[in-house]
Amino acid sequence: MPIVIRRVGKPGQYLATATIAILLVACADTPIQQAHAQAPEEQTTAIPVPLAPAVAIDTAEVPQTFSQWRDEFRREALAAGVSQQLFERAFDGVVPDPGILRADSSQPEFTRPVWEYLDGALSATRITRARQLLAEHAQMLEAIEQRYGVDRHILVAIWGLESNFGSNMGNNYVVRALATLAHQGRRPGFAHAQLLAALDILERGDISPSGMLGSWAGAMGQTQFIPTTYNSHAVDFDGDDKRDIWNSSADALASAANYLRVSNWQSGQPWGSEVSLGADFDYALADTSIRKPVAEWAALGVRDAQGQALQLGDGNQSASLLLPAGYRGPAFLVLDNFRSILRYNNSTSYGLAIALLSERMQGRGEIVASWPTDDEPLSRTERLELQQRLQAVGFDPGGVDGIIGDNTRQALRNLQFALGLPADGYPSKPLLEKLRTFQ
Ligand code: CA
Repeated sequence: MPIVIRRVGKPGQYLATATIAILLVACADTPIQQAHAQAPEEQTTAIPVPLAPAVAIDTAEVPQTFSQWRDEFRREALAAGVSQQLFERAFDGVVPDPGILRADSSQPEFTRPVWEYLDGALSATRITRARQLLAEHAQMLEAIEQRYGVDRHILVAIWGLESNFGSNMGNNYVVRALATLAHQGRRPGFAHAQLLAALDILERGDISPSGMLGSWAGAMGQTQFIPTTYNSHAVDFDGDDKRDIWNSSADALASAANYLRVSNWQSGQPWGSEVSLGADFDYALADTSIRKPVAEWAALGVRDAQGQALQLGDGNQSASLLLPAGYRGPAFLVLDNFRSILRYNNSTSYGLAIALLSERMQGRGEIVASWPTDDEPLSRTERLELQQRLQAVGFDPGGVDGIIGDNTRQALRNLQFALGLPADGYPSKPLLEKLRTFQ
């Protein structure tokens, strides 16, 4: 599956509003969709509209200046219980950040193939560092594992991918980033809610404004929690009464563990494993919405990666089949704990990277099957063309937006069925080329 390096999918993001939840559920394995859920033409502009005196103007369509927006937001924040003193301190010198708006509106034309993303995520340097930190923090990790029941290797993997073990948390002042996005971003409602939550954090004194650093999208600290997730799930583990996910690795890792625990983490259970499929396997079953007990998958011909009988958990756990690069690439059977990782960041590539990194630290987790490296992911232009062509031949992709979501995958499957091809729903170049011959 193609993925982008930059993401905004962060723990608990989908809890923010019903709309966000629907977007993320609909986009279960494509991080690009989380970053680009709205078409660029839906963005508002900040160009002030001169008022012609004799013409009635719908004021709702006149963009606010930043200071107008801030004054209105101040009234709301104060009504919600934020003190005026804190508000002025938090907004001291805050002006919109054009770099944040550029990041918010960028629509990458090319995406990295999943195998390249995994190569970067599972680099030798990262694995070595992870092993060093496992040893260095053994006692702390033991205590966190005891309290939350979450595998320490998964926690260290999250730490490694979210912030390169705390060394890259983003250097944006979170209030400035979120104020910019709440004023002019593509999802102002989401940024608005996060900004109120960020002020709440500052009001409680867990961190000072100058220390509240994060990504352009407002993901904060070593675990890259968005403010609402921080408020609901961050914990103080080192006992100083502050939930400091920026400067305390213990707080950060325990907060991640707490988040996974409430996201249905099953203590002692595997995340899943690579599997192999029989020659006549029905690839249409490879969909995250389809869940069956492991034993049932085994009866359908799913075997372990070496082609031996499948041994995964007790055989009763509910599992889904993943084909991240279509039927020609590796297959994975994933269980509840993999779904918990997706609650952290709703991308199957991310989930695989966390799961495999946790295994590589322990000398396991090499992928047996080969990736179809001759089949590069479609560019954005090609994805748009694919959807247009699917529509033209009567397979409705649910809109032409360049996003390969559930509807587009189903349309691809229907086309593959009609053509007698393996129905994996994967948007491959050969399939696009085939569609081009139809018109
Ligand atoms: Ca603390």
